[in-house]
Amino acid sequence: MSITAPGRLTPILSDIWDAERSWTLATYRDRGGYEGLAKALTMPPEDVVAEVKASGLRGRGGAGFPTGLKWSFLPKPDGGPRYLVVNADESEPGTCKDIPLMLANPHALVEGVAITSYAIGGHHAFIYLRGETVHVYRRLLAAVREAREAGLIGTGLGPNGDYDLEITVHAGAGAYICGEETALLDSLEGLRGQPRLKPPFPAVAGLYARPTVVNNVESVASVPTIIKHGKDWFTSMGTEKSAGHGLFSVSGHVKNPGQFEAPLGITMRELIELAGGMREGHRLKFWTPGGSSTPILTEAELDVPLDYESVGAAGSMLATRALMVFDETTSVVRVIARWTDFYQHESCGKCTPCREGTYWMKQVMHRLEAGQGLPSDVDLLLDVSANIAGRSFCALGDASATPIQSGIKHFRSEFEAGTHTPAWELFPYEASAIF
Ligand code: NAD
Ligand code: SF4
Repeated sequence: MSITAPGRLTPILSDIWDAERSWTLATYRDRGGYEGLAKALTMPPEDVVAEVKASGLRGRGGAGFPTGLKWSFLPKPDGGPRYLVVNADESEPGTCKDIPLMLANPHALVEGVAITSYAIGGHHAFIYLRGETVHVYRRLLAAVREAREAGLIGTGLGPNGDYDLEITVHAGAGAYICGEETALLDSLEGLRGQPRLKPPFPAVAGLYARPTVVNNVESVASVPTIIKHGKDWFTSMGTEKSAGHGLFSVSGHVKNPGQFEAPLGITMRELIELAGGMREGHRLKFWTPGGSSTPILTEAELDVPLDYESVGAAGSMLATRALMVFDETTSVVRVIARWTDFYQHESCGKCTPCREGTYWMKQVMHRLEAGQGLPSDVDLLLDVSANIAGRSFCALGDASATPIQSGIKHFRSEFEAGTHTPAWELFPYEASAIF
């Protein structure tokens, strides 16, 4: 869907999505593209870092870690290589912002990669993409090639011609865990993608054990306009601690699902209105603020500003702004069983709580869905999920526990409706006689 509606929307990354051949260098440059890079190359790298830091841009991949601060964690240059790795392995259920962004406006990412690399003193950047998205892969390759042919990346960049940058687009093999930054780095190095112990964080020892910044696609693509227009322009949008604009992906039971680029702090009620409202004759039952890994919310939270602090205070997380909307026709148990299948399938198997726990939660969720659960199953789910959350090696374990815990919190009766009293409890004499 296009992002041209007035009012609360701020089409910045999405401003050219409706333009003809929006993905080409010519279209991007017509709208002022690469002016941010030209300006950045005239600034000392540390000033570029300072500007992004002052803008308050926070990581758009989900965690919301301050982007400029992450860049400033890199140790002082020692003459060896340092890298930017763009995490384009978008795969959180419901999350669908980076792929349309890269398809419709790949040059915003390429320009952001060039500015970020310059700022951190990197000369080789990698974009790690989901292997299944071959169409995105081709588009990124074409954009990088166009930029290289136009002299925007490559050798002899900047007013003094003393900056070089190479960009490699790498297609992964399609594993959710490879979106975890250290598993991504292992995968990029040719190893099996499994999370590394942190610390050391990638800023200190990342790709090939060298200082590395790992940033999400939308974070990096937001950098050119920050440099071009300045930090004050960026902080004029959003809230005090959650500055700027972001892509909100509204999916599910609304009339016009799609991407809506808006200031952080917009509410779910406003976004549902922008998406045309709920399906005719239906009402909201629950929604996710940031994909399946974030605690579900209900009608009571429709007016919570969608910024990191407010959504946190409401008991959930803003994360990837993947706003999945479910109406009253939805079985909560069925949705969460499907998500649990996903986490069990994607668990990398490195640590026991997640590897074993997701397997058991999946079994229990499916017997509840089939109405074959035991009366003790709801508490069993709470017990197993509590032994995964906070006890797993990486965030995937926590993520698998979240929907079950928040689903039971809001809709316990639906889980209990999937249980039945077993025959041996109803007819203890007959049952014991059998054995
Ligand atoms: P995190 O909070 O552990 O780290 C966030 C970032 O900050 C990382 O890059 C990390 O290296 C850096 N960092 C944190 N502390 C640091 C320190 N002291 N020194 C240097 N760097 C430091 O979060 P995470 O595990 O990287 O990511 C979890 C988030 O990922 C979740 O909130 C979820 O929303 C999101 N997620 C997104 C997708 C997707 O498809 N986009 C998929 C799954 C999860
Ligand atoms: Fe692997 Fe899950 Fe452990 Fe993460 S939490 S390391 S995905 S087994």
